[in-house]
Amino acid sequence: MKGFLRVWQELDIKDIEQYLIVIGELSAECFACKKIGIDSKSVTCPNCGVGFKYIGFRRKVEPHYLRQVKERLPFIVFIDFDDLKKIIGKSDARKLLDL
Ligand SMILES: [Zn+2]
Repeated sequence: MKGFLRVWQELDIKDIEQYLIVIGELSAECFACKKIGIDSKSVTCPNCGVGFKYIGFRRKVEPHYLRQVKERLPFIVFIDFDDLKKIIGKSDARKLLDL
């Protein structure tokens, strides 16, 4: 039996920032170039050409949706977008303290 559950893993944040597609309510955005309104089924960014390795969500997703994504993109890594925002927020705060 298989199911989707979230696992905490230490990942390279810079790598995620460069190869992430973020799925919103109606369309998606490329995190690297900030292009919005791209097709949520995109494998590469139509704007900057980056190939997506990570996928995050701005909305709630159901397991059947995750399964569809996994079938289409077997190597994609699901990340929790809120976790990423928290980490980026912290490093931005640190940069400010360094000034
Ligand atoms: Zn892009």
